[in-house]
Amino acid sequence: MDINNKILEKLKELQQKEGALPQYLELYKQLLLIQVGGEENATPSKPSLTKDKIGSKLRKGIPILEWDALSLSIDWVAFPQLFRKAAACISKYIEPPPKDSIAFDIATLQEVTKAWYECSSLSTWANDQSISEEALTAMIHCAIKPFLRAQANALLKVIDQEQWRRGYCPVCSGKPDFAFLDKERGARWLLCSRCDTEWLFQRLECPYCSTTDHKELAYFADDKELYRLYICQKCHTYLKAIDLRKTEAEILLPLERVLTADLDRQGQEKGYKGG
Ligand SMILES: [Zn+2]
Ligand SMILES: [Zn+2]
Repeated sequence: MDINNKILEKLKELQQKEGALPQYLELYKQLLLIQVGGEENATPSKPSLTKDKIGSKLRKGIPILEWDALSLSIDWVAFPQLFRKAAACISKYIEPPPKDSIAFDIATLQEVTKAWYECSSLSTWANDQSISEEALTAMIHCAIKPFLRAQANALLKVIDQEQWRRGYCPVCSGKPDFAFLDKERGARWLLCSRCDTEWLFQRLECPYCSTTDHKELAYFADDKELYRLYICQKCHTYLKAIDLRKTEAEILLPLERVLTADLDRQGQEKGYKGG
């Protein structure tokens, strides 16, 4: 079973146990269902770069997947449908809900998606639709995720983890928003907030500002020492993590980042922001 279906199973168990899912998990589930529906349109194309080119990019700190290559892999007939579904779903959770349904013509949708991928501001388009930039970001992210995942999965096979070790994703340049310590050595890995790629990273370095000053870096652990909240006093950010050496259960990392909302609350209460 692939990871999304495992996550959906897990959510079903939670729902049966609790009666109903809390609102943030219900939204997460609905967006995941849309993504699973889009997977049939997202077939991984062979990476257009040779292994040498990929190695040379990684050594220079350049993420592998450029917009042009990603764009070619997107089914631009299926994408607007996914976007429409994501927009309709997210709109139900916006207060007050948007008066009209969120829609762009295909050229504009491509432009917005490119801007999202290249980390540019989406505020003009969000203002046009009278929604927040955050809401538009979530809509685009949901629609592109099946395509981005398919490419990331294919590219991950050719990434030499020792060649990267930077604070941003080697595939899509996204920031990490979760970390884990592996079972084998307790090495720290980061999880990309955009494409779920995992990559190896130093234990004593902030991925957001790159400081290695141990006086600025700390972490808090829960009683069972299963979860950690890494904080950096230099750039005032926090990073959530799970220590896989402390559990026998199968951990679904993309789900963990959502289930650990309490850690976000703790980080924010201590005066730190998510990376
Ligand atoms: Zn990524
Ligand atoms: Zn920092």
